[in-house]
Amino acid sequence: MSEIQFHTEMETLLQNEEPETRSVWLMHEAGYRLGMPHDEIHEMVAPQQVNIFRIPCKILGKVVNFWGCLALHNSARGPFKGGIRLAGDVTIWETTELARLMTLKCAVCDVEFGGGKTGIRVDMPAMYELFRRTPRDLEFEKIITIDAVEYYAQHFRDVFSSHLYIPAPDMGSGPDEMAFIYNETQDPASVTGKGDGVHGWLPGRKESTGIGCSYLACRTMQEVLGTAPEDATVAIQGFGNVGRPLASDLQQRGAKVVGIVDLYGGTYNPEGLDIDGLLEHFEQQATVGGFAGGEPLDNDRLLRLDVDCLIPAAAGDVITGEIAPQLQARCVVEAANMPTTIDGMKVLRERGIPVAPDILANAGGVIASMLEYSSSLSAIKPAQDDVYDIIRQKIGDNFDLAMARASSEDIGLVESAIELAMERVYGVMKGRRML
Ligand code: NAD
Repeated sequence: MSEIQFHTEMETLLQNEEPETRSVWLMHEAGYRLGMPHDEIHEMVAPQQVNIFRIPCKILGKVVNFWGCLALHNSARGPFKGGIRLAGDVTIWETTELARLMTLKCAVCDVEFGGGKTGIRVDMPAMYELFRRTPRDLEFEKIITIDAVEYYAQHFRDVFSSHLYIPAPDMGSGPDEMAFIYNETQDPASVTGKGDGVHGWLPGRKESTGIGCSYLACRTMQEVLGTAPEDATVAIQGFGNVGRPLASDLQQRGAKVVGIVDLYGGTYNPEGLDIDGLLEHFEQQATVGGFAGGEPLDNDRLLRLDVDCLIPAAAGDVITGEIAPQLQARCVVEAANMPTTIDGMKVLRERGIPVAPDILANAGGVIASMLEYSSSLSAIKPAQDDVYDIIRQKIGDNFDLAMARASSEDIGLVESAIELAMERVYGVMKGRRML
């Protein structure tokens, strides 16, 4: 980010003028429908605190300054909760938007956390240049990310130790990085998403988002489309931490997963892909591309496949105003965060294609985080099956509420879920005299 761009963003932030992001748009619409005053909607949209930092890190003998942002959006319902994203393109607004999404996600699933997020700008190609490294070296990349998180953990130790903000993994970070937060605080409840065996870890944490999303996809197909999972076809974008358990669980529930793509390739089989075989192939090749049990598939075709359910489980902003008119899927289940743009959402609304929103569809991870936090405090570890049951119950109960509201108000599931979340945040903010 250039200095000018940085100052412009800071200026806008200080003047509290939010750019029209998806959640800002949806919250305003929902707030007006609920009869909330404009000023109070604005207070719910605005972050409570945004910390901008530059952390000098000594890496392989050089000092590297990483720019970052810790957005603490809303703590009305509990401590700020949200992942640490390490990427070359993080911005203040993206981090704030993701923090706001966490507030809504925790509220709609009735998890007692607020919303927060960290973005640390780690530009890997620039690191290769700085350290004069070629070719790609995963060990080198790990040193960079672990060191960045270790310095970040030292910098914000008091924030974690006080449980003001409880971080977790997001894109670019995982259990290895979370271990360094634990090393710094020596407190298992100060961070979630810890790796197996690290004090306070949770059985089933890794699969939790995919398990919750598969459950919600089956309920959406059954109750919104009237199609039983055993008769349904599904296409998935992404075969990562979310996509892999999601595909496996869908197969176990009888659905036919016919197409999957990742960054490096894709595979299609109209009879249904053999997911166990695909997982073995992925172990060897680190991509679904080249799988013998299917024909090649690219992203463009995946998004236009004639399937019952399309599940974007990779990047944001993939279902745009241009792609949405060409979708042939009968419903969309948002496993990724904000995979549908505002324009894409308007088109899907017009076309009557139901969307199960990200704040419900990928909430399995934060529900598991709630269990990990609570078991870290109590030292009582739940069994994996109990973790999955609680995820399904929380998502299921709140899906029922969102469905009932959507039907009585004649609105979509996205809109009803946002209303439900906002009402819960609003009620507590009023009760705590935060509004
Ligand atoms: P990941 O990095 O483990 O996997 C991402 C997958 O998507 C990989 O297979 C990658 O190759 C593929 N991919 C990336 N960009 C793509 C593109 N443009 N086209 C096709 N494939 C692409 O990430 P993840 O943890 O599985 O997260 C996926 C999404 O789910 C993200 O939006 C993330 O914010 C969201 N999410 C994840 C969790 C979680 O618990 N991991 C929780 C909530 C939300």
